[in-house]
Amino acid sequence: MGATVEQALEQLKSTGVRMTPQRHAILSFLMHSMTHPTADEIYKSLSPSFPSMSVATIYNNLRLFVEAGLIRELTYGDDSSRFDADLSEHYHAICRTCGTIVDFDYPPLTEVEIAASKETGFRVEGHRMEIYGQCASCASRHKAN
Ligand code: ZN
Ligand code: MN
Repeated sequence: MGATVEQALEQLKSTGVRMTPQRHAILSFLMHSMTHPTADEIYKSLSPSFPSMSVATIYNNLRLFVEAGLIRELTYGDDSSRFDADLSEHYHAICRTCGTIVDFDYPPLTEVEIAASKETGFRVEGHRMEIYGQCASCASRHKAN
């Protein structure tokens, strides 16, 4: 499990960022969400509780959290960015039909970094990989038709 919302907020405070109820709500929404939401989706979920909050505010706060290292921004294709508060080493399978993103883990891929480093002399800092296809429910719906 990653950090709790409280730990994340402490980390943010130590960088001099003032905590507001909106920031708390955005961060806690992300940390409890498994869906890798966009700024728009976060806005739709939180706007009933924070009617004066704009999408731009959400977006600016997401930027701030990314810079503070509390969340990751996912940029896949031309779609709007999605955000992930799970900072553990993991990969994403992306459904081309409905856009669902599902987490998965595959530790042997760190061997690719070692191999790349050996072959190129790079000090490797990371890699990215995505799997594209149809999620289980889209694939089964397709079969039924
Ligand atoms: Zn799907
Ligand atoms: Mn994820």
